[in-house]
Amino acid sequence: MSPNELILSAIARDEARIIDFLARFVRAPSPNPPGDTREAMSVVEEELRRFDIPSRLLFAKDEMPNLVADFRGARPGPHLVLNGHVDVFPAGDEAGWSRSPWSGLVQDGYVHGRGAVDMKAGTAALVLAFAYLHEHRDSLGGRLTLALVSDEETGGRYGAEFLLKEHSELVVGDCYVNAEPSSVGAIEVGEKGAVHLRISIRTAGGHGAYTHQSPNAIRLMGELQRDLNRLHGVRYETPADLAPIITECRAVIDRLVGKGGGDIIDVVTVNYGAIKGGSSANVLAPDCVLEVDIRMPAGMTSATILASVKDVLAKYEGASMEVITIMEPSWSDARHPMVGHLSHNAERFSNRTVVPVMSLGASDARFWRQIGIPGYSYGPSPDTMGAPDEAVKISEYLDILKTHVLAAFDYLSET
Ligand SMILES: [Zn+2]
Repeated sequence: MSPNELILSAIARDEARIIDFLARFVRAPSPNPPGDTREAMSVVEEELRRFDIPSRLLFAKDEMPNLVADFRGARPGPHLVLNGHVDVFPAGDEAGWSRSPWSGLVQDGYVHGRGAVDMKAGTAALVLAFAYLHEHRDSLGGRLTLALVSDEETGGRYGAEFLLKEHSELVVGDCYVNAEPSSVGAIEVGEKGAVHLRISIRTAGGHGAYTHQSPNAIRLMGELQRDLNRLHGVRYETPADLAPIITECRAVIDRLVGKGGGDIIDVVTVNYGAIKGGSSANVLAPDCVLEVDIRMPAGMTSATILASVKDVLAKYEGASMEVITIMEPSWSDARHPMVGHLSHNAERFSNRTVVPVMSLGASDARFWRQIGIPGYSYGPSPDTMGAPDEAVKISEYLDILKTHVLAAFDYLSET
């Protein structure tokens, strides 16, 4: 048997253990915030030990370990980096769940629990892909790195950003792949960017009967929102290399994330996530704070968005703004050999046509793309991602493992 046939037969042989690994991983809660991922990371370490694979932990914060493992093949070749996150979205109100968010229950063809889709199935698949390739490293060229991070959900400062800044010799390669939920019919070659802002308005305030004495901060914020709404739907010139992909992926995005998703892939969107202000009906509110999430298409930069928001703010006395997060849009060449390897193997295992798409959401891939490393995502369907009763289809988890292990095999056997 060829090495890739041997790998596929080992996956078939180990299926129960592969499913059990994901169930145990989901059972180790790692909601971020607050972001204590030690228990979840120890499940990964234990799995790597079963394969006799050494790994090391690197910390920017004690309770947020990042894990790096790597090996070199038998001959020179490209360096591929596999990246996943072990932190997950918070479970929210547990009353909305049919069972504990951390049940890790294996039932009806699914593994249930918070983070099963985003992205413990993907991370588990990458850990196992790395492990099976490690067993066949003598048949490979180049170098393979597994880089797992504990801080993706809140921006990546203690995860990807830290690893790239402090340990670049370990995690900077020639190509980057993650397994974020893209859907089995789609390979993400890029993503929109986002600017998260906290906008405040302060006024003198006073009694609600004396509306002549001071502007009302809540009323002003309403007017300011009307101005910001004008940014929603603004189109920007798509970079030439992306234009055909955007045209072709609209219908696919509609199918993956619901009708209308394809229409917002290349426009600005404005979402108000939280608003607070005032204290009671008869008070002229002296303060109002609004948190806004502005998403921008490829080709645009945060500087353009921030300049537009500043223009709006300048019209309102007492208005100020704090930048919470900036994630620039990023994209890579859709003709890169890795896209071919991922598509070819994904089509083989999922029995579907697989197309390159742009993602509406942001991922750690942007950190690698920003320093010029081509980055791609392929993972499970995002259906229940971040929702109560999150659950990943086991058949998708296994297909994603097989796709990643063989795509990496193909990439590292090219030389
Ligand atoms: Zn994720």
